[in-house]
Amino acid sequence: MDPLKALADAERKPYWLDEDPFEPEPLPRIFGHTQADLAIVGGGFSGLWTALLAKERDPGRDVVLLEGQRVGWAATGRNGGFCHASLTHGLANGLERWPYEIADLHRLGVENFNAIEETIARYGIDCSFERTGELNVATEEWQLDEMSEVHTIGRELGADIEYLDRDQVRAEVNSPTYIAGVWERGDCAMIDPARLAWGLRLACLRLGVRIYEHSPIKHIVKDGAALRLTAPYGTVRANRVALGTGAFSPLLRRLRHYLAPVYDYALMTEPLTAEQLASIGWKNRQGMGDSANQFHYYRLTDDNSILWGGYDAIYYNGGRVKIGYDQRDATFLTLAEHFYETFPQLEDVRFSHKWGGLIDTCSRFSAFYGTGYGSRLAYAVGYTGLGVAATRFGANVMLDLLDGLDTERTRLRMVREKPVPFPPEPIRSGVIQLTRWSLARADANGGRRNLWLRTLDRFGLGFDS
Ligand SMILES: Cc1cc2nc3c(=O)[nH]c(=O)nc-3n(C[C@H](O)[C@H](O)[C@H](O)COP(=O)(O)OP(=O)(O)OC[C@H]3O[C@@H](n4cnc5c(N)ncnc54)[C@H](O)[C@@H]3O)c2cc1C
Repeated sequence: MDPLKALADAERKPYWLDEDPFEPEPLPRIFGHTQADLAIVGGGFSGLWTALLAKERDPGRDVVLLEGQRVGWAATGRNGGFCHASLTHGLANGLERWPYEIADLHRLGVENFNAIEETIARYGIDCSFERTGELNVATEEWQLDEMSEVHTIGRELGADIEYLDRDQVRAEVNSPTYIAGVWERGDCAMIDPARLAWGLRLACLRLGVRIYEHSPIKHIVKDGAALRLTAPYGTVRANRVALGTGAFSPLLRRLRHYLAPVYDYALMTEPLTAEQLASIGWKNRQGMGDSANQFHYYRLTDDNSILWGGYDAIYYNGGRVKIGYDQRDATFLTLAEHFYETFPQLEDVRFSHKWGGLIDTCSRFSAFYGTGYGSRLAYAVGYTGLGVAATRFGANVMLDLLDGLDTERTRLRMVREKPVPFPPEPIRSGVIQLTRWSLARADANGGRRNLWLRTLDRFGLGFDS
């Protein structure tokens, strides 16, 4: 089908947030003054996990969560729903950056992932959690080396991971573009992210967390031994503060050096018929990803629609963030074209939704952590497109730091080190656009990396989504 036609009637909103009967009523905004032991800023996965774990650790702790819009409206309610155990944006990135720590990071990631499954069951959260694993496919010869390295090391770390040759991978999911694949069978689940966020919200409320929506915090200042957070119509005085503000302008100024807000986009198809689904196989319903620098991720929903996202990662010069930027027709068209190239047998399938969302990219592609205001405030940001599961780990790190605990988590180099900062604007925009251009060229030229990318590689720097 002509991709333009296939996109013509697609709703311009995130599929997960569109008229879902599970969507809760809004909560009140904050009016007047209140006090709390812990104030959490941000109602995405990061803030929600922090609130839940804070109450589970200490039910007597008075916890307030302040969300600028609605709980789960941002990246948390717009993502691909890949709940992956990795804390390091994938094994390859973790291996490159923390080779001596990777075994611990892998184990801690799996423990965190298992705890998410257990929490979902314990609170009865209906978010279509399906432990499908993830199948990463190669579509070009140059991608095979890294793929087999990930397979070998993954096995050595004890992961349930299998290398599939061309025939085996096509027997799993039938695309003429695949030449090999690596299937990580455990440690990754497909979820409905908005329903997970709403379920965590309800669990928090039941444990006594006070949640205020439409309450953007404008600034934080010291107030005696505590901190004061100011929203348009109210303030909170809190002994401790946790920031889970994702890609949005951070309330701690110094974090701006490390974060770049990047837009990532996705499409949803209409539900496939039984014959259409049979034409691609996909009986094991794995989350899928391809292996180019500009990669796609895709998965089935519980009604057998396909979410198809990724490829473009758009940085608007100056780090601009605007509501309208979550729609980008040029990217939707590219995504639709790639969809039909991957699955030509689905040429009759149309798209029902098209949307984008903001990612908190940092130069090491995985979250970083720290404190401010004399350790009264902690932050965990920079998840760079793989934060569905890792935000729970980050929440535990923030609570460890705020409680002054010396734990296995806080001792990790990954937790103690910061990423290399991005340069200031306007150099930042130039550097990011040059990197994006170079990555696209590498994909078009058999993976060959130009001098610029090789220089970044040498310093462990990069740009990803
Ligand atoms: C299109 C897309 C696809 C993705 N796919 C995946 C995937 O498949 N798997 C995966 O693991 N990750 C994926 N991600 C990334 C994942 O969604 C994020 O890492 C994760 O949701 C981050 O959660 P968060 O709470 O840190 O940020 P967010 O969900 O962005 O939440 C931050 C919240 O803070 C609030 N806030 C900010 N500033 C203030 C303030 N001053 N006062 C009050 N509130 C404030 C915002 O309103 C927002 O609600 C994807 C992201 C996108 C955009």
